[in-house]
Amino acid sequence: MTDGFQLTEEHLAFREVIREICADKIAPRAAEIDETGEFPWDVARTLADNGLLGLHVPEQYGGAGADTLTFAIMVEEIARVCASSSVIPLVQKLGSMPLLMAASDEQKQRWFPAIASGEDLISYCSPEADAGSDPTAMRTTAVRDGDAWVLNGTKTWISMASASSAFTVLVKTTPDKGARGISAFYVRGDDPGFSVGKAEDKLGIKGSPTCQVHFDDCRIPADRLLGEVDRGLLGRARLDPAQVLLWPQARRAGAKAQAEQRQPVEEPVEDQVEQAQRYAHDLARSLVEADYCRSGARADFWNPQPRAIVNTCG
Ligand SMILES: Cc1cc2nc3c(=O)[nH]c(=O)nc-3n(C[C@H](O)[C@H](O)[C@H](O)COP(=O)(O)OP(=O)(O)OC[C@H]3O[C@@H](n4cnc5c(N)ncnc54)[C@H](O)[C@@H]3O)c2cc1C
Repeated sequence: MTDGFQLTEEHLAFREVIREICADKIAPRAAEIDETGEFPWDVARTLADNGLLGLHVPEQYGGAGADTLTFAIMVEEIARVCASSSVIPLVQKLGSMPLLMAASDEQKQRWFPAIASGEDLISYCSPEADAGSDPTAMRTTAVRDGDAWVLNGTKTWISMASASSAFTVLVKTTPDKGARGISAFYVRGDDPGFSVGKAEDKLGIKGSPTCQVHFDDCRIPADRLLGEVDRGLLGRARLDPAQVLLWPQARRAGAKAQAEQRQPVEEPVEDQVEQAQRYAHDLARSLVEADYCRSGARADFWNPQPRAIVNTCG
């Protein structure tokens, strides 16, 4: 099984460092995180202490300014040992993208240092109950009121919402203009009228809270607008290509651990053979999926004009 694309010496060295951090600090916690479904603050702290929550942030704003492939390698390594934990840096980048793409230099200077250090975790809020793949159907609005914007509505499926202190939010500012009536804002968790609802009960990745967030006459200063009014969305492609690596890697690690931990049992030999075949089949399928997804993701990163990660604020 090959990587499909050659990594540089720097990428390989970086991968070794991340692998050690994962083996030392994250892998031993993975089963407990999944069982309790609690957000792993200790893992977030480890990632922050090692500068990994600001890996994607440009150096002039306090981050490491790493390339996207380096970021994907980090996510892939974390996902190998704990799917829930891998969502932490993924969403940190996802929430940062509208700021990177549309915030002014002054706004970036103001908000990025806390994101880069991991003091702020930041979520991205677009979908609603009836507006998932089609964000133009969203109903949450922002209305200008003097030197403030007032937001009303509810967003669904927001990863990390209960752990984050900052949020980038897409809302309608001119409701009858469809895709050309949506704007992006930066919202703080302690802004008046903002609240996080209960976490969804998911089938997996349980240590990554996914919640509704509510805007109830949520009043934010006018200078929280990102870019121009009504230019927040020109089409949304997808969350992040690195995400495609998450599931196969976690499954691959899980299948391997399962195979290693299997105890000999007193069973008819035919049953044992059948079970062994099932494990082998599952492991092989997971390996193929992981390799396929990795190649696809890396092809994207090597493409000089990659498809947009989040086509907001264009
Ligand atoms: C665990 C989890 C975490 C998430 N975290 C975040 C987050 O942090 N931030 C965030 O912004 N969003 C997040 N999301 C939301 C995610 O972006 C949406 O789920 C996604 O946009 C799809 O919307 P939907 O779930 O409403 O599905 P729908 O839009 O209802 O789509 C359902 C199915 O129909 C298909 N479909 C839809 N429209 C068409 C069409 N026109 N033609 C053909 N097929 C179509 C889709 O491909 C899909 O298979 C999260 C979702 C999950 C499940």
